[in-house]
Amino acid sequence: MDGYSGQSTTVAEGGVELSPATVDPISTLFKNLMDFAQGKIAGESNFLRQGNYDKLSVGAFLRQGLESYWLSKNGVTEVNGCGEWSHKALEEAIFAMYENNQRTYTSAGELSTLDFVAESEYQMFPGEEITIAKGYLSVIESIASVLPPGLVQLGKKVTKIEWNPESESRNIPTPVTLHFADGSHTSADHVIVTVSLGVLKAGTREDSPLFNPPLPSFKTEAISRLGFGVVNKLFLRLSQPANDSDNPKSINKFPCLNFVFHQPESEFRRKRIPWWMRKTTTLQPIYQNSSILLSWFAGEEALQLEKLKDEEIINGVSTTISNFLIPRSQNENSESDSNGWSNGHKNQNDTVEFHFSQVLKSQWGSDPLFQGSYSYVAVGSSGEDLDAMAEPLPRTEESPKAPLLQILFAGEATHRTHYSTTHGAYFSGLREANRLLHHYNCI
Ligand SMILES: Cc1cc2nc3c(=O)[nH]c(=O)nc-3n(C[C@H](O)[C@H](O)[C@H](O)COP(=O)(O)OP(=O)(O)OC[C@H]3O[C@@H](n4cnc5c(N)ncnc54)[C@H](O)[C@@H]3O)c2cc1C
Repeated sequence: MDGYSGQSTTVAEGGVELSPATVDPISTLFKNLMDFAQGKIAGESNFLRQGNYDKLSVGAFLRQGLESYWLSKNGVTEVNGCGEWSHKALEEAIFAMYENNQRTYTSAGELSTLDFVAESEYQMFPGEEITIAKGYLSVIESIASVLPPGLVQLGKKVTKIEWNPESESRNIPTPVTLHFADGSHTSADHVIVTVSLGVLKAGTREDSPLFNPPLPSFKTEAISRLGFGVVNKLFLRLSQPANDSDNPKSINKFPCLNFVFHQPESEFRRKRIPWWMRKTTTLQPIYQNSSILLSWFAGEEALQLEKLKDEEIINGVSTTISNFLIPRSQNENSESDSNGWSNGHKNQNDTVEFHFSQVLKSQWGSDPLFQGSYSYVAVGSSGEDLDAMAEPLPRTEESPKAPLLQILFAGEATHRTHYSTTHGAYFSGLREANRLLHHYNCI
């Protein structure tokens, strides 16, 4: 935990800084709706009383919640309009900001593809979130330090896994053969597959089968039904404006900035803001007073980010900021006087400019060893598909006589309640290790 105060500044497109009185009612509405979807609070809405949640998405539920909120207010809103913003447009845009945040939490590119029923099965890990100073690698190194040196072989891409579901001798282990991209191979009685759901999706397509023979249909159907989205982080290093050197601390005052964008149908959308920035929720220092800023991207926007050159990213982010951070003296619409965020460099036209010197981004979508970021329960799938992901092969149903536990599956996409997380991946590894220990009566 880095002591970041968590205070943020919410600004609407055009530079209207929004007060908590404006943001909070919508923030509370959104939180209550998500708490309800996640089963944290009981309640009933007209919409849900119909009781048919089949194929209901979190996205549809949230929008119905917003509509009900408007209906309950009978046209009277707690949020005042401001300048080019009508009160309803402002409420909807603030709501969309929270929806976009939810896209990055879940990796569902569109919340309309995120299953409503499964949302209540997902469990948050208790306690605060922390940043591991030396990165996740230090956790892996610590766990792996008990293994004999040389046991973990890196840089060995598996191209094929040959297993034996047709074998007829249940009690005689039949080795599984792993073929590697460098032409070598090895065999083992048991293989625990922990590649991402994205790699499994690609590996079960006919043009590039990872398994020989192919996986049984209960497995391939679960793999295909579950969702695997793309979420990327973008880091930007702020540089000191050339003529602001008398104020060496100014770059360290970038606010934790929340963006409220005009929605697609609005006539006030600034054309220069690139489309891939329009679902970005925040741009914030990674810790208080850091000159490194972080933004999250999901879905199509995350994929586009992977394709852009650093210069295009810097231009896109800078243009976006300049349409939000307008010096207070110019910003007659500003409805809040809380935060002093206007610490950027004012140019000749007296608009605020921040300059960036370096870009770092993840590219999980195009990385062939990941093919996305983390899984979610898509509409049409369910928690049962996560359980099916975890089932070892072969099953007695399909292979009554073959040795069991040839292929075991671990990884975040195999954990019914902690999928999409590192701890879900970790617990699933313990689960499969224990399965083998039980098999050999070692527990
Ligand atoms: C931007 C972002 C932020 C996140 N933030 C958090 C967070 O705050 N908290 C949290 O708990 N989780 C977070 N996650 C999720 C977390 O990183 C994943 O859930 C976790 O890493 C999944 O672990 P895994 O072992 O299941 O799969 P992976 O991490 O995908 O590991 C699979 C491994 O298989 C290897 N592999 C793939 N194909 C092959 C092949 N053919 N041959 C050999 N090896 C192969 C890959 O190289 C990789 O090392 C985040 C993820 C992203 C993308």
